[in-house]
Amino acid sequence: MVMHEPVTDALTQVHARLAGLRDGRLADYIPQLALADPDAFGLALVSMEGHQYRAGRAQTPFTVQSVSKPFVYALVLAELGPAEVTRWVDAEPSGEAFNAISLEPGTGRPANAMINAGAIACTALVPGPTGARRFDRILGILSRFAGRALDVDESVYASESASGNRNRALAYLMSSTGSLPGDPSEAVDTYFRQCAVRVTAVDLAVMVATLANGGTNPVTGKAVVPEPVAVQVLAVMASCGMYDASGKWLLRVGLPAKSGVAGGLVAASPARFGVAAFSPPLDPAGTPVRGAAAMRELSERFGLHLMHNPARSAPTVSLSSRQEERVTLVAAQGAIDFTAAERLLHELSPVALETGGGVVLDLADVMNVDACATAMVRAALTDLCAQGHPVAVVGRLGSAAAGPGWRSFVSRQEAVAWCAEAPSGRL
Ligand code: GLN
Repeated sequence: MVMHEPVTDALTQVHARLAGLRDGRLADYIPQLALADPDAFGLALVSMEGHQYRAGRAQTPFTVQSVSKPFVYALVLAELGPAEVTRWVDAEPSGEAFNAISLEPGTGRPANAMINAGAIACTALVPGPTGARRFDRILGILSRFAGRALDVDESVYASESASGNRNRALAYLMSSTGSLPGDPSEAVDTYFRQCAVRVTAVDLAVMVATLANGGTNPVTGKAVVPEPVAVQVLAVMASCGMYDASGKWLLRVGLPAKSGVAGGLVAASPARFGVAAFSPPLDPAGTPVRGAAAMRELSERFGLHLMHNPARSAPTVSLSSRQEERVTLVAAQGAIDFTAAERLLHELSPVALETGGGVVLDLADVMNVDACATAMVRAALTDLCAQGHPVAVVGRLGSAAAGPGWRSFVSRQEAVAWCAEAPSGRL
């Protein structure tokens, strides 16, 4: 394990400050969950490099409960595609509690995959000839998300099965309107087993870090689901993951998240890290009290709100000048994505160039040009060539050095010299 003291320190401080919070109540509608230790409290954070940080009871096992929902949604999206899944489960916030009957009037389609009705439908959509085989698929994907083999807490499973008539009612109701495929009692039994899978806060942090990392587990390095699936799951977590508290959560914390009634809570900071908390007492909306407070603190402290505009890094265009009367030189630096390419192309626009003559684009200090930016810059350079500008590129643009009509150079001096001599076409 890599220990990076500032991050561990931050988790430890947040943990120490919130451990004394006494608000909230244990879930007791599943009798076995009422036996949990209300003082248990753990935090874990996993970076996109797979570095792990923890504080408190981060290795204590508990049942995943509703935190399983985004991961099983990911499984069916990967297996069936978004169009087929959306036919069965919508992607609208319900504004209601996790166990509400939020079914579309007329069709009976559940509002989203994060509430029980939608999650039971997702479980039923997992391909497989029997409930047992479907459950194997579910346990398999949860384990790949966690990066280790998970198992089931049989006593919690039995306890929920003995007390889960509301979920049975939901399943039979959906089945009666044709919005649940297969046998409703089997679907709900598989769902109870899924909710009883045992995890730790560290497992949950790895699982949600996998979503934040575009579907590839940052610890094992293995692709678990395709990137578009991870994006869709995070989007639905952002709008629906906290049930009827989702709006306020997005406002205050600003991260896609999912809670469970055994005290698990995950949040994803896309392309940065996954964070998880374990603390059983819940507020009236079913949100773990200490976990939610910890996420709020971490989000504020680290500036993670999705809508927060991070301080812009160094400017993309590091130099833009007229050279030897006939050549415009534009040099760029850093990583070039859509936003950076826009800055660069603005500099290369006909208005900016003012007159004809050669154009040198110096990419020697550029670290990376992504596929979208490569296409944008190539199109702009192709246009400049078509207008008769001699165009020279220093360094590489995407995987190709030169493109249609422009020349590639290793040094800026050579490029400028060539442009200055090259005959202009039109102009
Ligand atoms: N197994 C629980 C239920 O269906 C999961 C609910 C939750 O964690 N919010 O009631």
